[in-house]
Amino acid sequence: MSLNEILFLGTGGGMFSVGKQLRASGGIVLRISGIQFHLDPGPGALVRAKEYGVNPRETNVLLASHSALDHCNDVNIMIESMTHSGLDKSGIFLGSKSVIYGEENKKPYLTRDHKKQIEKYLALEPGNKVKFNNNISVVALKTKHNDKTNIGFKFINDKFAIGYTSDTGYFPELADELKGCEVLIINNLKPFGHHDPHHLSSDDTIKLLRQVRPKLAIITHFDQKMLEQDPIYQARQIQMQTKVQTIAARDGMSVNPITYAATRDNKSMQFY
Ligand SMILES: [Zn+2]
Repeated sequence: MSLNEILFLGTGGGMFSVGKQLRASGGIVLRISGIQFHLDPGPGALVRAKEYGVNPRETNVLLASHSALDHCNDVNIMIESMTHSGLDKSGIFLGSKSVIYGEENKKPYLTRDHKKQIEKYLALEPGNKVKFNNNISVVALKTKHNDKTNIGFKFINDKFAIGYTSDTGYFPELADELKGCEVLIINNLKPFGHHDPHHLSSDDTIKLLRQVRPKLAIITHFDQKMLEQDPIYQARQIQMQTKVQTIAARDGMSVNPITYAATRDNKSMQFY
């Protein structure tokens, strides 16, 4: 992988799409200024990493937005793979409270043993910010979901900001959370005409993009209905109505975020 890259190890979402593997569910790998993040490793994350040429040993930060199988089923195997089963204690885990500590009547996905294998784990709440070297920071974002501790993420360096909605229903402040992102990754689970209080539909994505206006919107995390209605068609309609460049993610798709970098600061642009 290059120094800056977004690679989709899966684009499926929801029980039927993931259960039938209509689309893969390995999550998203982001490389930002050389730091490797693996986000929402659902079922098959390790297998897809191998398939698409990602070395889990190079993952510095593993993240899980909430306690749902299609987002965090494979957190433990990814930690085994990152750390040689704990022989080389390394890496950071960032996640919702639910993934790390469990919920009422629900055990945490992240096991006690794997908490010991990783160097550090942190449960984040909206507004929390974690800083890494190379001027990279990760900010946890507010969502509206049945897992009340669910969080979205914003990845920021000196050249661009990438927003990830995670699973969320539309709510007015969602756009404020994501403002300033040049690239927006949207879990657009549902097609036009399918309202869901805890997930975004294509109608919601239009509302969101009209306010955030990123340089690039990538829709992903498609449920069966969305796949039947063709994500490429949905993306085209979204783009037509918002005038925001919009693409539908495919398994194995790679995007270079530098292409969409803002001319924020002349100093940071001199290398390009
Ligand atoms: Zn989901």
